[in-house]
Amino acid sequence: MSFENLDLHPSILHALQEAGYTEPTPIQAQAIPEIMAGHDLMASAQTGTGKTAAFTLPALNLLATPHPSKSRGPRILVLVPTRELAQQVNDAARKYGKFIRARTVSIVGGMPYPLQNKLLSQPLDILVATPGRLLDHMERGRIDLARLQMLVLDEADRMLDMGFMPDIERITAALPGERQTLMFSATFEGEIARIAKQLLKEPKTIQIAAQQAKHENIEQRLHFVDDMGHKNKLLEHLLIAPEVNQAIVFTSTKRHADVLAEDLHAAGHKVAALHGDMTQGARNRTLTKLRHGDINVLVATDVAARGIDVAGISHVINYDLPKFAEDYVHRIGRTGRAGKSGIAISFASHAERFQLRKIEQFTGHRLEASVIAGLEPQKRIQQPKPHKFGDRPRNSGHPANKSGHPGSKNGGYKGAGNRNGGQGYGGEKRRDGEKSFSKRPGRSFA
Ligand code: AMP
Repeated sequence: MSFENLDLHPSILHALQEAGYTEPTPIQAQAIPEIMAGHDLMASAQTGTGKTAAFTLPALNLLATPHPSKSRGPRILVLVPTRELAQQVNDAARKYGKFIRARTVSIVGGMPYPLQNKLLSQPLDILVATPGRLLDHMERGRIDLARLQMLVLDEADRMLDMGFMPDIERITAALPGERQTLMFSATFEGEIARIAKQLLKEPKTIQIAAQQAKHENIEQRLHFVDDMGHKNKLLEHLLIAPEVNQAIVFTSTKRHADVLAEDLHAAGHKVAALHGDMTQGARNRTLTKLRHGDINVLVATDVAARGIDVAGISHVINYDLPKFAEDYVHRIGRTGRAGKSGIAISFASHAERFQLRKIEQFTGHRLEASVIAGLEPQKRIQQPKPHKFGDRPRNSGHPANKSGHPGSKNGGYKGAGNRNGGQGYGGEKRRDGEKSFSKRPGRSFA
């Protein structure tokens, strides 16, 4: 199947050719004809499947036919849970809509109102927005939704989790009833099914990557850890490996992300934190640096990192396990982008075995534990078969490092700026692991 078979406008095909896309992904091949036939759609597809283009391309195709109305409001509204995802959808619409000159605007929380007022006062075709801020503008009468033809709810399950549904219900109540509605969600179980029923009319359903997405291009590894010091040593070891191009390290709290980023910076890494307490400007600057390769390591929390689409991310490291199993899928999906392969590594303590099991049940993929010679967990854990450093067992292993020991001469963080008393990040050859920053006064990893 090629894009030509999909009846898309030649200007869109031109943009796709420029983007280097040769054929539609499965979600695109299935969703585009249904959307272009005018059906409502319920599509279950994970990030990384090409779902953004699956709705953006037919939306742009709609724009190729001029609207009879003289009003200036958007013809397509895309609701998304986070600012980062809004940016990603906005970028995609601009990229694919380059030759049909689609006017795309993104309206998200945390940005100044005057600029948004100005953007909304101009004629526009596609509006990408987070629900809360959109509702603010609607209530102030700043958006004309009279000519709206298509509503897209992207990552609807996430919007539900984040408490956006009351806002979404108010938004949809104000939209023209004669419209096409598309809903993309990782799952359509429970509450999300009720909402879909309420918002969609006789929808077509497509299920591409179910929850059990295989992520075949992502190698998933697991390391059992004894304590924070052990985690830090492993992280140190993993990040200096030559095959790490760029890495996202996930922590469970914003504060923890800041602290870890500071420590990695002191240890000589080009690193930044990304979390929800940062201003939108700071978040954008950080993402731009990541995209340009000015940052090699991003220490992030779940919500902030959703939607990050940077092809250079070779590794995702779950320094802390995610609270929800589905976040695991979103996290590891930050690597292996744009047809590349990726490596996702999780640290888990013995006490987190239940959480691990939930992740495995959700993904349908068993995480085999691996060990790195010299960094084996000291606490007794029933299972992993140790393998020699340099071995590559199925689903685990670590590429060979000649020394075979993370504490080798060139192995530690030894930056002059390291505040761990010059011991290196995590210290060397210590098994207590407490030389690392976890013991620093006033700092906690909770
Ligand atoms: P998404 O699932 O929408 O986040 O897209 C994942 C990545 O796939 C993005 O980097 C897109 O630019 C890329 N992509 C989307 N559609 C195609 C396609 N048909 N061929 C190649 N890459 C694509």
